[in-house]
Amino acid sequence: MAKRISILGSTGSIGVNTLNVIDQLDEDLEVVYLSAYQNSKKIIEQAKKYRPQAVAVINDSSAVDVKDGLAGESIDVLMGREGLLEISQRDDVDLLMNGLVGSSGMEPTLNAVKAGVDVALSNKESLVMAGDIINKTKEKTGARIYPVDSEHSAIWQCLTGEKLEDVRRIILTGSGGPFRTRDLKTFFDITVNEALNHPNWNMGHKITIDSATMMNKGLEVIEAHWLFNFSADQIDIIVHPQSIIHSMVEFKDSSVKAQMGVPDMKVPIQYALTYPHHAAATWDELDLVQVGQLTFEEKDLDRFPCIGLAYEALRSGGTTTAVLNVANDNAVYNFLEDRIKFTDIPRLIEETCAAHDWIEHPNLEELLKLELWATEFVRNAVEA
Ligand code: MG
Repeated sequence: MAKRISILGSTGSIGVNTLNVIDQLDEDLEVVYLSAYQNSKKIIEQAKKYRPQAVAVINDSSAVDVKDGLAGESIDVLMGREGLLEISQRDDVDLLMNGLVGSSGMEPTLNAVKAGVDVALSNKESLVMAGDIINKTKEKTGARIYPVDSEHSAIWQCLTGEKLEDVRRIILTGSGGPFRTRDLKTFFDITVNEALNHPNWNMGHKITIDSATMMNKGLEVIEAHWLFNFSADQIDIIVHPQSIIHSMVEFKDSSVKAQMGVPDMKVPIQYALTYPHHAAATWDELDLVQVGQLTFEEKDLDRFPCIGLAYEALRSGGTTTAVLNVANDNAVYNFLEDRIKFTDIPRLIEETCAAHDWIEHPNLEELLKLELWATEFVRNAVEA
C-alpha cells in the first residue's frame, strides 16, 4: 500500500526538495496534502502533477488564484491559516513533512502528533517553542518525530543500536556560516546580502540568517534536547567549516561516532521518508579525497552571542526558549527588511527574554499568547 504523505510548506526549500526526493525514489509514495504560503503559481503546478486531495494556501488572494487555477481538477483548496491547521490535523496520512518556517510551524506539528501521525520535522522551531507539549502528546498517541535537520538526522543515525545511558555527550557540528573569520569590529556593517551568502548550504532566507548569527546552532541545541533527552551540559557545538561531518556522538569510553555525507538536505529528507532504510539515490557520492581535509574549531561566543543566549534559554527552561524563538523570528524578519542591524538581532532577543513573564509548564494557549506578546515587544523595540 502506498505511504501517504502530507507536505507543509511545499513551495519552500524543504518542500521542493522533498518532492524532488519523492520523484527519484523507487517507492510507492502518495502525496495527499500540500500547503503554501503564497506562491500560487508553484503550488498549482505541484497540485496538477501530484494530484493531492487538498491544498492549503495561507495568503487569501493567492488562495483565490489557486482556486481559479485548479477549477475542475477535483482538488480541494483550503484558505488561510485555518486551512493549514485543518489539513495538519487529518489522520488519513502516514507521514507529515513539516517544512514550514519559524514559529508558525509549531501548531501544525502538534496537530499531527495529536492525530497520531508521524512527523518528518524540518521546522525545528516547533520543538524550541513547544518541545514539552509535543513530547507529552507523542507519548499518548504513539506518533514519532523523524528529524530532517541534518545534524539531528546524524545524531539519530549515530544512536541507532546504542544505549542512551552509554552516551557522554553529543556534538553538533556547524559550518560557522559566512562570518566565521570576518573582523568582529565590522559586524555592525553586515548587509542582508552578505548574510544570505552561506558558504555550504543552499536554504531558505530565515534559516540562512540564523546560520549567519549561529542562532541556528543554538536552536539546534534546544531541538536536540527535546529529540534525544540530553541536558544542555551534554550537548556541545564544534565548528567544522567543510560541513561533511553532520554531527557526532561521544560515548562514555571516549569512542566517537560521526555521520558524514555531502551537504545536501535531500539526504536527511530521504532518510526521514525511508527510515529505517537507506534507499538508493541519484545525487553525488561523498568524495573524501576531493574534500581532502576536515578541520575543527572552538565555537566563538563573542562573535556569535546567539549561541550563548540559546544555552541560557534552555537552562532556564519553561517559556524562555519559546520567547527566544519568537524574538529571533521577528528580529530576523526585521533584519531581512533592513530595519535593524545584524548586531541588533542578539540584543533584541536578550531584551525580549529578560522582559517576559516566565511560566514553567506553559500550555498551548499560553504559548500562543506569549507569541503575540513577544512579536509586539520586538516591534515596539524596533520602532523605538
Ligand atoms: Mg541543521
